[in-house]
Amino acid sequence: MRSSLVLPIIILFFACKSQTPVSVSLPEPMDLRTTVDQSKPKNIIFLIGDGMGLAQITLGMLANGDKTALEEYPVVGLHKSRSSDNLITDSAAAATAFSCGVRTYNGAIGVDADTLPVKTILEMAEDEGLATGLVATSTIVHATPASYAAHDPYRKNYEAIAKDFLDVDVDVLIGGGKKYFERREFDDENLLDSLRARGYIVQDFLTEISDLPLDTSANIAYFTADTDPLPVAQGRDYLLDATKYTLDYLKQKNDNGFFAMIEGSQIDWGGHANLQDYVISEYLEYDAVIAYAKEWAEQDGETLVVVTADHETGGLAIQPESTPDSLVTAFTSTYHTGVMIPVFAFGPGAENFAGIYDNTDIFTKMVKALNLDKVDSSIENE
Ligand code: MG
Ligand code: ZN
Repeated sequence: MRSSLVLPIIILFFACKSQTPVSVSLPEPMDLRTTVDQSKPKNIIFLIGDGMGLAQITLGMLANGDKTALEEYPVVGLHKSRSSDNLITDSAAAATAFSCGVRTYNGAIGVDADTLPVKTILEMAEDEGLATGLVATSTIVHATPASYAAHDPYRKNYEAIAKDFLDVDVDVLIGGGKKYFERREFDDENLLDSLRARGYIVQDFLTEISDLPLDTSANIAYFTADTDPLPVAQGRDYLLDATKYTLDYLKQKNDNGFFAMIEGSQIDWGGHANLQDYVISEYLEYDAVIAYAKEWAEQDGETLVVVTADHETGGLAIQPESTPDSLVTAFTSTYHTGVMIPVFAFGPGAENFAGIYDNTDIFTKMVKALNLDKVDSSIENE
């Protein structure tokens, strides 16, 4: 006890007594990084399993020897998913809740309940110089990815949505739907050329993702299919490679941090089709992405990973006659249902995702985490 007091007293004594002018060096210009709140991440990886409710997660886990990568995520919460016009949300309203923080109507892409465009977290991140990425196993103009880069009153206006991608400088785009850019019905424009003119390297499924250049002086648009990508069961296998590429690319792109949304799009399609094996195979592919993102973030140390779904699909139940070797399921719907949806988080700021909250709060929490809440959220008319 005494010795711990002696040293400060001696230092104080000499500090006071010292008459020698000491050359005082001005403090170094502060490195922004050292002033950043340690509880805040530099990067966010946002993982959306479309239609991935608790039953889908449980089914995938049981089919995987009772294991899921989600067990490695320390924080769990629940979100309430209703849309502005329906107790049961669709993927467009749900994605817009996540991307814009507004409760809007089913079918809305990046617009509010009055069809007015609302700035997305991805657009805010771009404005602040962060790198951004969108990866999906649907087309890139499908509701979930579209709601980060496009503003359209109706989700099926795929060609108009494709055009909106030209107004946002998304650094990495990976998904299907090449035809909506290349062979358009409503105008003769070739948006692949427009993307190239805006500094994109445009590639498609004829090139392996492993052969994509890690050239961060260009943006990347990689089309995995002309229309919808195949289900995993029919040979699609790009999502994990796309995730690895995207995270490495975005980290190298600049030093401002990044926002990436990576979607397991077809868990939902298995639910709509009421096909247990479709749900399981899509879930297992996504589970590998969930595992990889957490490992990547753990190594990085400055990355928050948030995993959730937009809604449950199919009203899936795991039936009492199930055994570990033979899972028996039932579906109560071919559409989405209204159960609350789990949220899993890992990394700096993960603790903010505990509890029960609205789906729109996921936007608010992510925007705060990236210090984007002071960004001008007004949107220029396009
Ligand atoms: Mg989707
Ligand atoms: Zn759906």
